[in-house]
Formats: sequence, structure tokens, C-alpha cells
Amino acid sequence: MKRKFLMALFFSLVIGVLAACGGSDDDTADDGDATESDDKEVLTVATDNGYVPFEFIDEESGDLVGFDIDLITALADEAGYEIEFETLEFDGIVAGIGSGRFDIGIAGMTITEERKEEIDFTQPYYEAGLILAVKDGTDDIESIDDVDGKTVATRTGSTSQQYLEDETDADIEAFPAIIEAYQNVLAGRADAVLYDLPNVQYYSEKDADGEIVTVGDKLTGEDYGIAFPKGSEHRDEFDEALTTIKDNGTFDDIYEEWFGERPEGN
Ligand code: GLN
Repeated sequence: MKRKFLMALFFSLVIGVLAACGGSDDDTADDGDATESDDKEVLTVATDNGYVPFEFIDEESGDLVGFDIDLITALADEAGYEIEFETLEFDGIVAGIGSGRFDIGIAGMTITEERKEEIDFTQPYYEAGLILAVKDGTDDIESIDDVDGKTVATRTGSTSQQYLEDETDADIEAFPAIIEAYQNVLAGRADAVLYDLPNVQYYSEKDADGEIVTVGDKLTGEDYGIAFPKGSEHRDEFDEALTTIKDNGTFDDIYEEWFGERPEGN
């Protein structure tokens, strides 16, 4: 009985939604402002749930916010799509785009040769790089050359984890959420953290009161790209939209809002 009731409820909801869509057909489209949600294809966007300042949950409002969120919203608008966000850990985003579970992935994701085998990327939209950081007052780690035999925290499935594996003999501790890596350093359970420079800087200034400090030079140049399943027709559409908003100043406005300055040479 209960099931039948739920089915009936479900179908009446579906019919309700269909009727609502039918009712709002824009054959009298004379009003430029009323185009909001009419008949646009909805694409699912997989994003990270804790990667400041690119995508994270604003504590006060509970909303998903960040540079990537504003960027993909502007791009979808430009390309003529509606988007729906799904947040998950970084590792799952790479896999979920590779398998075609999501239409788009945006998560400060570095374009790498390895990922390009599974995923298509747009042109780069942000230049990052990896940086080592320690708890303020640590004096035995001054650069990446000092981490062999030390415990270095990072995030599962990230380019930093790959770097530590390939280039060092550190004891790597990888966590699903990067915040756990920082917390372990603050609590003295890990000696250092390796991660993307903009994230480390933002976390250090805004969330850790400067108690996490960077050491040494930026390690690798990394470009972020927006990810699509291999062969997706949407890649070119969003890539073109990206070129358009880089040319018309929208990109620079969004960038300035999150990074406090306009980007160099777009
Ligand atoms: N840029 C890093 C990578 O692509 C980390 C991104 C993230 O944690 N969201 O692996």
C-alpha cells in the first residue's frame, strides 16, 4: 500500500513538473529577462567540497561557493546550459568524470598527461603549483630536500601525492579531505604538508591564523583545467565559452573577486 501511494505521489509530481514546463513555453518570448530556466539542458557538475578558495561550503550560508563555482556558472550561462552541482571528495571526481558519471568536473584539477588518457580538459584557466608547508616554528624542514623519512600529509589522488611518491622518500599520509592533512600538521602528527600553493596560502591566512607556513620554492607549475568525459561534445562548447569570457572581462572580474587582483596576461 505504502509503495503504491509513493508511486502515485511520484507520478503526480512528474506530471506536475511536466505541466509546469509546458505552461512556461516561451512562445511569447518578448522579455529578455525571462529566459532563466526555459528548456535548457541540465549538465551535472562534479566538484570538490573542501578546496578553498576554489570550491567550499560557506560556513554562514551553507552554500557552495568559490572561484570555480562562479567560473562554471558563468561558462554554463555563456554556453546555454543549466548546471547542477554534486560535491564529493577529489578522488571520486577524477574517477567519476573518467567513467562518464558526471558531465563536467571542476575542482582545481591539474591537467596531467596521465589524466588526459581518461579525461578531456579545456584550455588552462589557472596556474598553480605545489608548495611544502609546516607548522610555524618547525626548524628542521626548510625545503622538499628535507622530507625524506619525515611524515608528509597530503590528499588522496592528488598531484601532490604523486609528487611525493615519485620524488621523495617521505612517509606519505594521504587523506580524502585536505583539511585533515592540515589538521595533522597543526596537531603535530605530521611533519609537513604538500599541496597546491593557492590552497595552502588561503588556508594558512584565513583558517589557520598563519600557524601553517610555507617553506622552499613552488615546486611544479600546474595548470588547472575543466574536465569532461573523453569525447564529450561539451568540452569544445565550454572551451569556447572560456575564451569568450576571458576576452570580455568576465573571467577577470570573477578572478579579482576571489584573489583580490586581476590575473596577469589573459
Ligand atoms: N590540483 C590538485 C590535483 O589536481 C588538487 C586539486 C584538489 O584538491 N581539488 O590533484
